Amino acid sequence: MATQNHNFQAITESCDQCGRETPHEVSVQIRTESQKRENAEFSREPYRVTECEICGAESSQRMNNA
Ligand SMILES: [Zn+2]
Repeated sequence: MATQNHNFQAITESCDQCGRETPHEVSVQIRTESQKRENAEFSREPYRVTECEICGAESSQRMNNA
């Protein structure tokens, strides 16, 4: 009996690098989009970041798809 207790969410997604579906580690990061420093605090957007556990390729996707 194996009880797995991961702190991260592991999901299966397709990876372009691997060319197949692989386990990915999912996290959420707040990223600043603006180039201008004075506006930076107004343009932080949450991104859903997935990292392939096989090859380490990272892809991010903006969560606010308004
Ligand atoms: Zn991969």
